[in-house]
Amino acid sequence: MRIETLAIHAARKPDPATGAISGTLHLASTFERAADGSYPHGHFYGRASNPGRQELEQAIATLEGGAQGVAFSSGTAATLAVFGLLRAGDHVIAPAECYHGTIKQLHELIAPRGVEVTLAETWTPAAIAAAWRSNTRLLWIETPSNPRLHLTDIAAAAEFAHARKALLACDSTFAPPVIQRPLALGADFVMHSTTKYFSGHSDVTGGIVVAARTGDALDGLRHQQLQGGAVPSPFDCWLLRRSMMTLPLRVEAQCDNAERVAAFLAAHPVVERVYYPGLASHPGHDVARRQMRRFGAMMSVQVHGGETAALAVAARVKVFTRATSLGGVESLIEHRASMEGPGTKTPQNLLRLSIGIENADDLLEDLAQALG
Ligand code: PLP
Repeated sequence: MRIETLAIHAARKPDPATGAISGTLHLASTFERAADGSYPHGHFYGRASNPGRQELEQAIATLEGGAQGVAFSSGTAATLAVFGLLRAGDHVIAPAECYHGTIKQLHELIAPRGVEVTLAETWTPAAIAAAWRSNTRLLWIETPSNPRLHLTDIAAAAEFAHARKALLACDSTFAPPVIQRPLALGADFVMHSTTKYFSGHSDVTGGIVVAARTGDALDGLRHQQLQGGAVPSPFDCWLLRRSMMTLPLRVEAQCDNAERVAAFLAAHPVVERVYYPGLASHPGHDVARRQMRRFGAMMSVQVHGGETAALAVAARVKVFTRATSLGGVESLIEHRASMEGPGTKTPQNLLRLSIGIENADDLLEDLAQALG
């Protein structure tokens, strides 16, 4: 089956007991044991498993072409579970530019455990090679990256890591499986903040890691899900299963709109630079063409006039909403540096845009009036 069909049929099956098409929402936090002490339905406690969570994990694993998904209560918790596979004395390489929370997590939670952390320009193969150590166990990449959409060649990164007996994990939050499938390119894990495209409606906070195969690493993730306890609620799993049925449709529409918005911005005199992998001028364009089916719906722009001008553009939008996050049906704009806070390397004149599914003409008119 193709991904549009899989998204519908993997996400939800009619309830066998009632025939209800929309799938049952099991809120139970505990499950009955049989008289012999066994658990005939396979579930014993809500933190350990839940029928809806299991369906969600399997559905996303199916779309990603992986063995199993492990769902968490946020993308951040999913990331932490992958880093939690590392032990004191291990070394991890992560992008010098990626979701700022990932960098904070590495510095504030992972390094204090005795794990060595190197941030490198992982979108450049030479930088990965230079950062490599004999104790490197994990290469973490994020592609396209937040917020300047650096493109990392997933297949090359996988080959490099595997030749040195390390694992490759890819944060593919900006590129859901409709447009990019890191496991097929050799990654061992793909991670998503399901808060974004999988939810698609800005009403769920969640995360998932899909493992390419069963084995120790997957067991380690399950262990952290159970003992770390950062699990998604049954209702959030239900909402995600409902939303992901329209994931392919939404993302196609978002990519269509994004291509038009990027072309418009690239030609606008107030715009200094556009970061969008679909533009031939983007340094990662060739990599994007090789490993992405479409170029996604995230982009950033630097505007002439510095921070004041950027804030003024954001202040004038009427169709775009000023907010952080991404992947929802509504278009968002944000002044990324002030969101990331002190120490940010993001330019002060940069605005990040998440393109939704509104009519593209309305988005272009809004940006035209906001840019002035
Ligand atoms: N990874 C990326 C690329 C993100 O953009 C985000 C959030 O913006 C996260 C991870 C963290 O996800 P969450 O906010 O669901 O914890």
